[in-house]
Amino acid sequence: DVQAFDKVVDSVCPFCGVGCQTSVAVKDNRIVQVDGRDGPANENRLCVKGRFGFDYVHSPDRLTKPLIRRDDAPKAGDMDLRGVDPLTIFREASWEEALEKAASGLKTILDRDGGSALAGFGSAKGSNEEAYLFQKLIREGFGTNNVDHCTRLCHASSVAALLEGVGSGAVSAPFTDAMKSDCIVVIGARPATNHPVAATYFKQAVKQGKQLIVMDPRRQGLMRHATHALQFKPGSDVAMLNAMLNVIVTEQLYDEQYIQANVSGFEALKEKVKDFTPEAMAEVCGIDAETLRDVARTYATSERSIIFWGMGISQHTHGTDNSRCLIALALTTGHVGRPGTGLHPLRGQNNVQGASDAGLIPMFFPDYRSVENVDIRSGYEDLWGRSLDPVKGLTVVEIVDAILDGKIKGMYIMGENPAMSDPDQQHARAALAALDHLVVQDIFLTETAWHADVVLPASAHAEKLGTYTNTNRQVQIGRPALDPPGEARQDWELIAALAKGIGLGWDYGHISDVYTEMASVMPSLNNIPWERLEQEDSVTYPADAVDRPGNEVIFREGFPTADGRGKIVPADLLPPDEVPDEQFPLVLTTGRLLEHWHTGAMTRRSGVLDEIEPQGIAVMNPYEIERQGLEAGQMVAVETRRGIVEAVLRSDREVADGMIFMPFCFNESPANRLTNPKLDPFGKIPEFKYCAAKIEAI
Ligand code: SF4
Repeated sequence: DVQAFDKVVDSVCPFCGVGCQTSVAVKDNRIVQVDGRDGPANENRLCVKGRFGFDYVHSPDRLTKPLIRRDDAPKAGDMDLRGVDPLTIFREASWEEALEKAASGLKTILDRDGGSALAGFGSAKGSNEEAYLFQKLIREGFGTNNVDHCTRLCHASSVAALLEGVGSGAVSAPFTDAMKSDCIVVIGARPATNHPVAATYFKQAVKQGKQLIVMDPRRQGLMRHATHALQFKPGSDVAMLNAMLNVIVTEQLYDEQYIQANVSGFEALKEKVKDFTPEAMAEVCGIDAETLRDVARTYATSERSIIFWGMGISQHTHGTDNSRCLIALALTTGHVGRPGTGLHPLRGQNNVQGASDAGLIPMFFPDYRSVENVDIRSGYEDLWGRSLDPVKGLTVVEIVDAILDGKIKGMYIMGENPAMSDPDQQHARAALAALDHLVVQDIFLTETAWHADVVLPASAHAEKLGTYTNTNRQVQIGRPALDPPGEARQDWELIAALAKGIGLGWDYGHISDVYTEMASVMPSLNNIPWERLEQEDSVTYPADAVDRPGNEVIFREGFPTADGRGKIVPADLLPPDEVPDEQFPLVLTTGRLLEHWHTGAMTRRSGVLDEIEPQGIAVMNPYEIERQGLEAGQMVAVETRRGIVEAVLRSDREVADGMIFMPFCFNESPANRLTNPKLDPFGKIPEFKYCAAKIEAI
């Protein structure tokens, strides 16, 4: 009943990369209801987060005034902050004082130590415009490429493999193409939990008779709908996928014509996988040889096959190798570049695709153009009127290490929470505490903001105008339903104020000015002017003309690589960095819950969601719980080489024998205190999905 509301605003969901379009109903300046709209990614559907997870914007915890750290306040480090009154650590300040202190602290380090002593973490939850401005500030204003965001912690290895193999880090087809496919592979992803609306399309496809192959070390609800469900051993992805490639090669199930016309590296692949017979790999991956053959044949011989993957693939020290195998599957069989086929890393946060596209990464300007390429760099130098750093910057975990090495002394962090999301959390928090100057811009006093010298209160998704790019490459417009509370301000205005504070002469009158400048340097946004987005709400890139829909399926005629061919890079089987031993006999893996988003800053402040999942948990299967002499419901201590975390033990048959699963959203049971910071050498992503652990009753 629209009459019951003061207004209903068309926007997009602020949580996952599915990018569901929403109608946000407002009464008395409060959001009272969110419904799904008929968007290209959701067709009126929403999951529990999108529908009920909106009240965090009205939380009494919202930051409403700038804060400055008191001179005598202790550095937060790893201290337990629960129950601490923020005003014992910070004092409220005027905007003028806070912005002056924020900018002058950064400028002092810049003048004294140079730009390489500064770094910035931007946000995958902010808009494209905010991401563009943030990386511009770091590059133009600080003179460094030390800028990154949480893509480093989710799909960095997938993007590294995709750029190398097919010349583009984005998906080749939308997830809705599952409906046009004959064979859908979901590997290392739990879409029913993490991309729930995407999962509805996969289930619908099965009802229409499509094959669904679900492969995951943990069982999951989607396996009930699968025609093939493979619960493989954690860390054995390359063994299983190379065995499938072995079958495709030895049984000549590959598409010779496609390979000859479009692919390089096939001969090297043949050589590499010849020893990866299903019989040899069955023991390694825990899947019998006949099932491996069956799955390989099903994938290769279906008319149209499509692969979806998530962080079970990417968050390993061999994450890039895992993705290389998936790319090899698609390239050998020609299952890419046609409707119903393709490669689709399911993107995590609502704008992790757009933030990466906009250059919020240390090695690339917008549109993945190398900072080390002289021609590209000089183009930006002309545009921005200053010389730029010719060397690629440090990534998230490298920045943390560089702080503790005394090389990085100041940071600007916008809408990210590394104190909860980085691996080996005590190490990360020690680094935040060691900074000479830290500016944090956020909507809550997050675990990271507690470490700040200046805290800038910013706007929530529902309070701002901007564009967001979902996992399908759909650029969508989000509209404000509310004003920010108290003195909180728009994020883009705060980035611009800091730019002014360090002496840059930026002049943007409206967020659309930022979009227009960004689109002028990003060929991917050709034919998608701001006015078109305002009118159509969602346009897929790349678009060939302003009056034609964007291209949902790409790579129809080759690949955007140097030679126009897709490149197969064969992968070797490497062990995880840290394997179980006598002292730590179990495997710890981390991830998300349906109800909570990322580090929980928003969803743990949403009444309905926090009521459903209110406390930190460690999850094992009932057999393993009994074997360990424990009981479900009791408090346990989970320990790794990096620390100990207490949590409530939950029983769940989905978790494999010998494994503990912990979600990383609970600050009282912070799973990332335990995780291994060892990096994949290509994507520089940490090994969140596998480390050695033990568990004890408390
Ligand atoms: Fe939001 Fe993702 Fe749920 Fe859609 S599926 S409502 S985008 S959290």
